Amino acid sequence: MTELAKLLVRRIEAEGPISLADYMAMCLMHPKHGYYQKERVFGAKGDFITAPEVSQMFGEMIGLWLADRWAAMGSPNPVQLVELGPGRGTLMADILRTIARVPGFAAAVQVHFVEASLQLRALQKEKVPAARWHDDLSTVPAGPCLMVANEFFDALPIRQYEKRDGLWFERLVGAEGDMLGFTLGPADAKFALVPESVKAAPNGSIAEVCPTAFSIMGDIAARLTAHAGAALVIDYGYARSAPGDTFQALKAHQYTDPFAEPGAADLTAHVAFDRLADAAREAGADVSPVAEQGSFLMTIGIGARAQALASRTDEAGQARILGELKRLTAPDEMGQLFKLLAIQSPGLPPAPGF
Ligand code: SAH
Repeated sequence: MTELAKLLVRRIEAEGPISLADYMAMCLMHPKHGYYQKERVFGAKGDFITAPEVSQMFGEMIGLWLADRWAAMGSPNPVQLVELGPGRGTLMADILRTIARVPGFAAAVQVHFVEASLQLRALQKEKVPAARWHDDLSTVPAGPCLMVANEFFDALPIRQYEKRDGLWFERLVGAEGDMLGFTLGPADAKFALVPESVKAAPNGSIAEVCPTAFSIMGDIAARLTAHAGAALVIDYGYARSAPGDTFQALKAHQYTDPFAEPGAADLTAHVAFDRLADAAREAGADVSPVAEQGSFLMTIGIGARAQALASRTDEAGQARILGELKRLTAPDEMGQLFKLLAIQSPGLPPAPGF
């Protein structure tokens, strides 16, 4: 049993079953035993590899996209450049290297990281020493702003509901002896949280909601209605939300039981892009269509970038670059599952790539 499993069992014995959101939040962010408090989370030796860790080309393309949006905003100086959940800081380091070539942009940029993990803040500081750190968006200075979040929203705690006999019951996390697992909460006729599009699903269906995602998206959109700016959300998930259980645990690149070793595995859920878009629109921002990562990256020129990099290297280097390009864009790799959504100030010209 992990230390965190003991704490969870004790808490559940005292208080009764907890929501899946509470379980996820404890597993990922517990100050001492939480998953993201470890250093070795990403990369070949970690539990999963994210796009910026696959290839420098990813951050370079995002950097170009941000440069385009900065120009569309009228090249404001200063501009706050905010990343939510920066992981090891690789994406921002690649962005900053790329935008250093855009006259005036790098000089105008003030970098802000929204990061909950102290361990990861330390790693980020090595890569981007000039950044400033925040617990949430509320302390980021007002003004024109560009935001990016890669694989941030999938880590936010979700709640799950199950339909039985025509009613939705919340799926809670309970304990039997030392064993953690799902148990059904009481039925509640309201369940306002279950998405409208999913409410009529047949008995046995599972519905997922991520209230934290909506509130963070509300904050992002509110900022973009008050000041010029754009935000780019990249993650895996649905363009249109559907019933289904996407709660998953990953450890050392393998799927594992999410209740077996709390704190030792990454826990995520698919992002419902249509619901994020709704939250942004409700708060007054403009929202792009949802794009798939493969077509987005190809449209904004990753093919040409790969060619340029390949022309300067040997055969082994060329094979590596081709492999990275495939990993990021092929439909059976990250190209289709991963999606993007741009959220913008009302009236900003449409963003490239969508
Ligand atoms: N963007 C990075 C890392 C993705 S992992 C990459 O692509 O490689 C998720 C990141 O979000 C981690 O940095 C994690 O510590 C952070 N995170 C997760 N939940 C958070 C929260 N509620 N508040 C702030 N940061 C959070």
